[in-house]
Amino acid sequence: MPSSSTELEETPVKAAAPAVEPKKKSKTPETLRGFRDVLADEQAAWEKVEELARSMTRAYGFNRIRMPVLEQTALFERSVGKDTDIVEKEMFTFVDQGGVKMTLRPEGTAQAARAYIEHGMVSQSQPVKLWYFEPFFRHERPQAGRYRQFYQWGLEAFGSDDPVVDAQIILMAQRFCRDLGLDVIVQVNSLGTPVSRKDYIAELAKYFKQHKKLLSETDLKRLTKNPLRLLDSKEPGMEALKADAPQIFDYLDEVSKQHFMKVLEYLDETEVPYALNPYLVRGLDYYTKTTFEIVLNTASSPELEGMALGGGGRYDGLVPLLGGRENTGGVGCAMGIERLVLAMKAANVMPPRRERTDVFFCQLGEGARRKGLAIYEKFREGGIAVGEAFGKGTLKAQLEIADKLKVPLAVILGQKEVLDGTIILRDMESGAQEIVDAAKVVGIVAKRLKDVADEKAAA
Ligand code: ATP
Ligand code: MG
Repeated sequence: MPSSSTELEETPVKAAAPAVEPKKKSKTPETLRGFRDVLADEQAAWEKVEELARSMTRAYGFNRIRMPVLEQTALFERSVGKDTDIVEKEMFTFVDQGGVKMTLRPEGTAQAARAYIEHGMVSQSQPVKLWYFEPFFRHERPQAGRYRQFYQWGLEAFGSDDPVVDAQIILMAQRFCRDLGLDVIVQVNSLGTPVSRKDYIAELAKYFKQHKKLLSETDLKRLTKNPLRLLDSKEPGMEALKADAPQIFDYLDEVSKQHFMKVLEYLDETEVPYALNPYLVRGLDYYTKTTFEIVLNTASSPELEGMALGGGGRYDGLVPLLGGRENTGGVGCAMGIERLVLAMKAANVMPPRRERTDVFFCQLGEGARRKGLAIYEKFREGGIAVGEAFGKGTLKAQLEIADKLKVPLAVILGQKEVLDGTIILRDMESGAQEIVDAAKVVGIVAKRLKDVADEKAAA
């Protein structure tokens, strides 16, 4: 379920949709509903996203962690919260052959906290800063930018209460999107400490109880179980009702207020564009103080405008809740990779496919093909990117491909050359050909490529 007012509208779907959509009357198995293959056209974008994640985390001193996809169900029930959408209806949970109840992880923060405690990271220098880039699973209603398996780039910093850490994580998330060519704005809020929140929740419940008649069945349930979730509600009529509801700012205790002011000051200082959003409660119970979302700001594609690309916040109670040391603060965020790529497509900032070919290898006849495989290897070991079309028979067809790839050089191996231990070198621009020693061809090609590059640089 959406956790901010800027979520993509959900399109109604029939209640019990089948796990596999009966698209065609075919017996060939297809991907499960909400799952997808990432094909060649998106790989350059995914790689760019992952490389940027890697370089940013290195610059900010985060260490990578790789965590299992399966965890004990109790981990999420205890940390995310029993009355949240994730735990109530989005988890893929099953009992394995050994009778153990397990869950395909729906998010990474609880997992990272588990790892922090389990591996005694409390004894390292604090904060311990971790990052991951991995798939997560939620049994949600599939729609644009919402899948049942999706990737997140996650950042978690454990062991510091300092608002500068909150600001730094928000800054990283915003700069990350900006560097990918996306126009985003940060929405921020503070949920205060659990104690200060209690008073607020009581007031909020009181307010909505007065307007009980206007609430939908879902919202009535929220009112009794988890009134804060009402601020998340997208039910008709709620916008107006929420506008008059008590606001959390007025209930923050002094510590939370100070903390929040500091975070905002740091954001001002670093010129991170942000907007205050008092309804930003986020879908997980463990948040304290700062919460935020990175929201797309794109007039060019109205259907994606306001989509949350990522979000996070502070979770000071999480480590203690899972049995770790008291007073271990933490703050983190997670960016959704599929949504980032979707936004990159819409903003026309998809990087070009990265296919570098230096030289094209043509072969004629079975002997040449066999020999060709070995020569191809030599080129690869020499760091030269070779194109080939081993499947094509005629020289004409192969040279056509070489032309399309715009390579400066082609090497041609025929039956005669195989017997002589030679190979033909063809300048693709002039069409001039010469015969060279096959054993030396990698060195010769490397030299020619360097000459071509030097000429280009000089021009
Ligand atoms: P939403 O409000 O969109 O449901 P959320 O608050 O549940 O998001 P988080 O748990 O904070 O999201 O996850 C952070 C980011 O991960 C989201 O902003 C989004 O980009 C991505 N994300 C979350 N759920 C999905 C999903 N089912 N499919 C694709 N991306 C997702
Ligand atoms: Mg959600």
